[in-house]
Amino acid sequence: MSVSQNDMQKYIDNELKPNDTFEFECSMCGSCCRNRAEPIVVIGADLFRIAKAQNVEVEEALWKYTRGYLGEGSHLPVVVLAERDDGSCKLLRKGKCTVHNNKPAVCAIFPLGRFYDSEKGEFRYFTQNGCSGSKPTGKTWTLEEWLGEFNVRESESMTASWNTLLAGVVQITTKMKKTAISERVFKMLLYLLYINYDISRPYPEQVEENKALAVDFFKREFHKKVIFDKGPV
Ligand code: SF4
Ligand code: SF4
Repeated sequence: MSVSQNDMQKYIDNELKPNDTFEFECSMCGSCCRNRAEPIVVIGADLFRIAKAQNVEVEEALWKYTRGYLGEGSHLPVVVLAERDDGSCKLLRKGKCTVHNNKPAVCAIFPLGRFYDSEKGEFRYFTQNGCSGSKPTGKTWTLEEWLGEFNVRESESMTASWNTLLAGVVQITTKMKKTAISERVFKMLLYLLYINYDISRPYPEQVEENKALAVDFFKREFHKKVIFDKGPV
């Protein structure tokens, strides 16, 4: 998703450096886990961590906890957290997140936001409004304390690695007609981006393997060359 100049300036103005502090205390109102106006996007690295936390195959986690559709501009599968009939996230049980330490990044960093600075090769975090239920006065956190609470730093390299896979593939699919993404192609893209991962193996090396499969696939099916930027080291 592209970010406007204005939004970027807002992020930078509200940026938190590792030892900067902010005040926040979750009241456990649960409103960010129920009836959300916007669904929570799950990237491949998020799904891998959810599957690992639940000790299930990645494909099982995909069908159990998410739903998906074809992205309008990207022409790629978009995967979001699935809700029950009452609007609650399928990972919420008895008011608690069942993957608390391995939540999707969007949930884990909330109420903070972040963006990836490709020049610096790092994620940058910022404060934003968005939590409707926090206690009026809360605990004071440094950025590092907050990220440590949900293992966010450990997952950053997985996320950055998956982003390089996505960035390479989207350069091709976004220029293709939506009608060219048949059901078979959609399933293959889902496989490369989300399913073809084994929770017992390190994640980044599997992303690299899927990049090689993507190169073969697009060459064979569409005579197109996919170019990937170098992943994180
Ligand atoms: S909306 Fe805010 S206060 Fe309510 S559960 Fe979510 S993070 Fe906590
Ligand atoms: S993954 Fe956890 S934190 Fe995120 S919406 Fe679902 S229950 Fe809430």
